[in-house]
Amino acid sequence: MNKPIKKVVIVGGGTAGWMSAALLKKVMGSVVDIELIESEEIGRIGVGEATIPPIRYFNQALGIDEAEFLRETKASIKLAIKFENWRVPGEGYFHTFGGAGKNIGFCAFHHFWLRAKTLGDKSSLWDYDLNYLCAASNKFAPINSKDPALEMQYAFHFDASLYANFLRKFSENIGVIRTEGLIERVTVHPDSGAVDHLILKNGRVVHGDLFVDCSGMRALLIQQTLGTGYEDWSHWLPCDRAIAVPSERLAATLPYTRSIAHSAGWQWRIPLQHRNGNGIVYSSNHYSQDEAAAILLNNLDSKALAEPNFISFKTGRRLKQWNKNVIAVGLSSGFLEPLESTSIHLIQSAIVRLIKLFPHAGIDAVNVAEYNRQSKTEFEQVRDFIILHYHVNERTDSQFWRDLRNMEIPESLTHKINLFRATGKIFREQDDLFLESSWLQVMLGQGIVPRDYHALADNLSEPDLMSLLANMKKIKQSPLEQIPSHDEFLRQVCAR
Ligand code: FAD
Repeated sequence: MNKPIKKVVIVGGGTAGWMSAALLKKVMGSVVDIELIESEEIGRIGVGEATIPPIRYFNQALGIDEAEFLRETKASIKLAIKFENWRVPGEGYFHTFGGAGKNIGFCAFHHFWLRAKTLGDKSSLWDYDLNYLCAASNKFAPINSKDPALEMQYAFHFDASLYANFLRKFSENIGVIRTEGLIERVTVHPDSGAVDHLILKNGRVVHGDLFVDCSGMRALLIQQTLGTGYEDWSHWLPCDRAIAVPSERLAATLPYTRSIAHSAGWQWRIPLQHRNGNGIVYSSNHYSQDEAAAILLNNLDSKALAEPNFISFKTGRRLKQWNKNVIAVGLSSGFLEPLESTSIHLIQSAIVRLIKLFPHAGIDAVNVAEYNRQSKTEFEQVRDFIILHYHVNERTDSQFWRDLRNMEIPESLTHKINLFRATGKIFREQDDLFLESSWLQVMLGQGIVPRDYHALADNLSEPDLMSLLANMKKIKQSPLEQIPSHDEFLRQVCAR
C-alpha cells in the first residue's frame, strides 16, 4: 500500500474495462504499465447503447476521429430522450441536451417564457430549443456558429460491444497488455488485506500495485474479495429486472432515444445504423418475467433479431468505490437504471477522477476518502434525477405509479422540487452532471407548474417581452432549413 504504483491491473474487458484501459494509458503514458484481463468464457453484459454529451470529450481526449468512431460502432446521433406516458398515458415530452433560449443577463430564459404564459402566450418551451427542433424533424448536422443560442449538444447511440472492441484495438496499440483468461482466485496480502495477486485458470499468477475492478455485476475484487458492502436504493427505484432484445432497423434513424412508460416499468428504443436496441426495465414485484417479455415483444416496431437477454439488478452503490488498492469502475461500482443513460458516463468520470487522484508515493487514505466522497455525491445526484421522473407523475392506472408518487424521497430532491414549484428557480450544485436545463425540462414535462418567475422577467414591457420570444424562436429556427436529415448526415460521414 505504501509503494509507488507501477503496475495497474484491470479486471474485465467490457465497456468499463476498455474505457479505463484506453484513458489511463493515454493519459498516464509510461508512468504505469497496464494489463487487462478478460474472459471470453464469461463475456460482457452486452447492453448499454445510449450516452450523454460528455462521451464526446472522452473520445476527443483519446484523439479518436468522430467519423471513424461513428462507422466502427454503427453509431447514430442522440439529441434527446423522448419520455412517453411518463406523466400520464398518451402524452410525451423531450429531455434534450440543448436548452430553451439562452440566459438573459442573470436570468434564465424560461423565466421570461413563464411570464409570457401568464400573459396568455401559448408557445411551448421546446419551441425555443434547437435540439428539439432538429430531433422532432429528424435532422442533424453539427453547427459551426459562435452564437451560444445555436449551440447544439449531442451524444451517441452505439453498439456497446463494437465500442469495447474499438477501444481494445486503440488500447493495445498504445501499449496496454491484454490477457485472455478466467480469474479463479484472488489472494490478499495477510497484513494489509489489500489485493496481492490474481490466479488464472491456466495457473498464471498476475501481480499488480493497483487493481481496477471492471468485472461487472460480479464485483470480483471490490465485493467478492474485499466485502465492501452496498447501499441499496431499491426503496426509491424499485425496478430490478431488465430484458433486452435487438430488432431490425427502421427506415428512418431517429436522433433520439425513446423511453416509453408502462404500468410497472418502461421500455427503451435506441436506433443504431444497423439495428434497433430495445429493452424493458421493470419491477419484479409487479410483472412476472413472462409478462414483461410479452410487453416488450408486443411493443417492438420491427422484427426481433435475437432471443431476449434477461438481466437482474439491484439499484444502489458500492459503499466505497475505492477500497484498499481496488477501485470499482462500471457495474461493479453500483447501478442506476439506464433511464438517463448515465452508466457509461459514470465509468468515464470514475476514470477521470482516478487520474486526478492517482496515487504517487503510495495509496494515501486522504486521497481515497476524497475519491469516495466525490463518487458518492455523483451517484446521489444521478439517483435524485432518476427518482424525479418516477415520483412526479399523475398516472392513476396502476399501484406502481401511485406508490412512487406517494413515497418519501431524498431531502435533496424534495428541496429542489419545492424551490422550482414555488419560484421557477433551479440551481446546479457541486458539478451536478445534469444542468439546469435538464432539470427544467423533466420537472415541466412531469407536470410541475411553477407558481412564480424571476423578478427580472418584469424588466421588459409586454411588447418587448413578446418580441424577445419571437426573435428567439426565429434564431433557433434559422439553421433548420440547411440541416440535412439524420440519415443523410450518417451516410455522408460514414462514407468519409
Ligand atoms: P461487463 O460488460 O459485464 O464486463 C465485465 C467483464 O469482466 C467482462 O469482460 C468479463 O469477461 C470480465 N470478468 C468478470 N469476471 C471475470 C473473471 N473471473 N475472470 C476474468 N474476467 C472476468 N449504460 C449506458 O450508459 N447507457 C445505456 O443505455 C445503458 N443501458 C443499460 C441497460 C441495462 C439493462 C443494463 C443492465 C445496463 C445498461 N447500461 C447502460 C450500463 C452499461 O451496460 C454498463 O455500464 C457497461 O456495459 C459497463 O459494463 P461493465 O464493463 O462494468 O461490465
